[in-house]
Amino acid sequence: MTSCSVPTLTPIEAVEAQSVLPADWQADFQNLAAVDLQPAVLELIRRTSSRLPQDVIEALAAGRATETKDSRGANALDTMLENVVLADSHGAPLCQDTGTVIFWVRHPFGLSQRRAKAQIRQAVAEATKRSWLRPNCVSALAAKNPGNNLDPFGESHPVIHFEEWEHPTVEIQIMLKGGGCENVGAQYRLPDVALGAGRDLKGVRKCIIDAVVKAQGQGCSPGILGVAIGGDRVVGYERSKELLLRKLTDTNPNAELAAFESALLADLNTLGIGPMGYGGATTVLGLFVEELWRHPASFYVSISYMCWSSRRMTLTLDAQGGIAFQ
Ligand code: SF4
Repeated sequence: MTSCSVPTLTPIEAVEAQSVLPADWQADFQNLAAVDLQPAVLELIRRTSSRLPQDVIEALAAGRATETKDSRGANALDTMLENVVLADSHGAPLCQDTGTVIFWVRHPFGLSQRRAKAQIRQAVAEATKRSWLRPNCVSALAAKNPGNNLDPFGESHPVIHFEEWEHPTVEIQIMLKGGGCENVGAQYRLPDVALGAGRDLKGVRKCIIDAVVKAQGQGCSPGILGVAIGGDRVVGYERSKELLLRKLTDTNPNAELAAFESALLADLNTLGIGPMGYGGATTVLGLFVEELWRHPASFYVSISYMCWSSRRMTLTLDAQGGIAFQ
């Protein structure tokens, strides 16, 4: 074991000084139907692309402290932490892959989803032009790249989930989901005879261990896992990904699942896979498990795998038009 200090990012004042938002910018909630979200979403992308959330940085540093000095695992984590500081100080993307761009928008009655979608797409195109996002959207078969991260039909990229809620505020969450880690997500249908996994938490445990073992050397570990138990195939995967918006310091409100998470996290970190698959004690930084409802005939375990470069942020616009990034 070695010590490792948590790197210090640039002060938030310095980040704000680089903001693309005019100093007096406010969302005009008096006329919600006409509100323009584009500038705020552009700033959200700028910050998310270059700045890793503090809880993830602290988890990487804590993992580094458990690795053997001069081991490949320790060196890999050192490089990641150095990378975190460099990206933040230069305002540059944290990873060359800026991922699939996914938004969750929660808003009061009166906001036009059609207009909001157009504004978010404008922000994504502008962020791509400014090199805060890599042009990652290509047609499936021909791999034709429009160069602006917008699929021409407005269906598949960026991904935007809308939900109307009862609060007077607008909340926009963003996740930049790397392609490598997306590739190692997995979905299981229980019972699974090959795994010896039945329809209970023991079976779920076997699925999660199997997914992490199969991911080794891919997906840029240490990973973070979102696990949805139940739902149909679509809802299970959607929810498992949304769980990755949680902070690593959050505690599962379901006591049984909270205990399951902490015990399994410890077990997963005995697999020896380590950072980037180089070996070591830091294979997974955290996991979030949630139980959904399901059809009696189906029992899915859907696992979304996030790489160490877990870029997520929440933008809140309050009823007075004030803005906050967390
Ligand atoms: S999986 Fe994550 S860390 Fe690895 S290349 Fe993709 S975005 Fe970057």
